[in-house]
Amino acid sequence: MMQRTVAYLARSSRPIASLQSSFSTSTKVQTWQNQDEEASKRPEPAQAGTLMDIGCRKIFTADHDMYRESVRKFCQEEVAPNSDRWERQGYVDRSCWEKAGEMGLLGCNTPEAHGGIGADILHSAIVWEEISYVNDSGCGFALHTDIVMPYISHYGTPEQIEKFLPAMTAGTKIGAIAMTEPAAGSDLQGMKTFAVKDGDDYILNGSKVFITNGWHADVTVVCAITNKAAKTPAHGISLFLVEHGMPGYRKGNRLEKMGLKGQDTCELFFEDVRLPASALLGKENHGFFYLMNELPQERLLIADIAVASAEWMFEETRNYVRDRKAFGKTIASLQVTQHKLAEMKTSICMARAFTDNCMAIHNTTGLDSESASMAKYWCTDLQNKVAYDCVQLHGGWGYMWEYGISKAYVNARVQPIYGGANEIMKELIARSIVSKK
Ligand SMILES: Cc1cc2nc3c(=O)[nH]c(=O)nc-3n(C[C@H](O)[C@H](O)[C@H](O)COP(=O)(O)OP(=O)(O)OC[C@H]3O[C@@H](n4cnc5c(N)ncnc54)[C@H](O)[C@@H]3O)c2cc1C
Repeated sequence: MMQRTVAYLARSSRPIASLQSSFSTSTKVQTWQNQDEEASKRPEPAQAGTLMDIGCRKIFTADHDMYRESVRKFCQEEVAPNSDRWERQGYVDRSCWEKAGEMGLLGCNTPEAHGGIGADILHSAIVWEEISYVNDSGCGFALHTDIVMPYISHYGTPEQIEKFLPAMTAGTKIGAIAMTEPAAGSDLQGMKTFAVKDGDDYILNGSKVFITNGWHADVTVVCAITNKAAKTPAHGISLFLVEHGMPGYRKGNRLEKMGLKGQDTCELFFEDVRLPASALLGKENHGFFYLMNELPQERLLIADIAVASAEWMFEETRNYVRDRKAFGKTIASLQVTQHKLAEMKTSICMARAFTDNCMAIHNTTGLDSESASMAKYWCTDLQNKVAYDCVQLHGGWGYMWEYGISKAYVNARVQPIYGGANEIMKELIARSIVSKK
């Protein structure tokens, strides 16, 4: 139902506010039956011409395919031609965010009642994947739509929802989330940024680092200590919506990174920032538990991006080795190359199967922390192995920045680090193994 609406939105640029679903219950039942039949006939990527073919994967429907077609067109026409320029300037043009909003690429999974598009998480996944399929490192849409917006949608007041979410869906406000500090990354409970009550207001002091979309952001979810005497640090952390332009709030320069060069990442500084009570997101001192609730989706989206990037690298390399000649024949005709491609394709398809299964679970009942951690750790490690092998198969050209595979290689490196480092993922997986009967 909503899938059709979204596909239509994407094709027609119809204003988001005017979209209302009008399907009856009997239509819904019929739609589900049709979808079940359709799903059983859909090929998996291993059986398709390429790993990026539209119309594959049992988790999707024909409506998702229509949406993917429009997102692919957007990425090819609006993202790919600008990607290199964004890398040089260090950020994506704001106009691209607004176009993405017009075309229904933002706020996909936020309910319509909250100013979003009201589609399922699989629509969001299509946006994550299609950006990877043009090898773009800049568009921080996934963080904005599927990490930041859910905090406001799940824990915000009606006023906060009304103020931020429709504008974020339209791409006129950009969102970020600030947890990490110079001395507290994996160990978030070690954060030092704090907010103290002053009448109804809070006064915020501290700093954050490595904040994706931080330089562009109009609104940032900031984690801060609000009760230093809590029984554990986790019981004394709150979330605040901090807006660009608030006195005392300063954004640092964009950080120079090894990869993801088109994505603005920066430090944030808070010096006696006076926050009204209306800036508190959810309940005071509940922030850490909100973080724990939302992290499975963040980890799942990193896993999906990792697999999509591996799929793109595989196809790029397959094309390269078919053309490149050495000793009078193509590199693809060498058995050593063929075996490497066979290993890569097998590993990528296995990762795709697990990740799609996680996405199907997340789309219905919500994904558990252990499975999300497994997907994040395994798929981001695989992405790096595939990147290494694909650069190797490109030879010296693979080391040249003008070749997409070179960018994909450096962009892959951060994936096992952020969103919870992979060592921490193993801690979480292991904890649940030894504690379960
Ligand atoms: C490009 C980029 C974008 C980012 N975007 C954001 C963002 O938008 N918002 C945000 O809040 N943060 C963001 N981060 C921060 C990111 O989440 C952290 O870098 C990450 O959580 C790791 O923290 P750290 O860098 O402090 O490393 P540390 O915590 O210092 O870890 C260093 C090493 O020690 C290991 N280690 C630490 N503790 C343990 C343990 N208990 N057991 C085993 N090994 C351990 C780690 O795995 C790692 O290998 C971003 C980072 C980067 C690089």
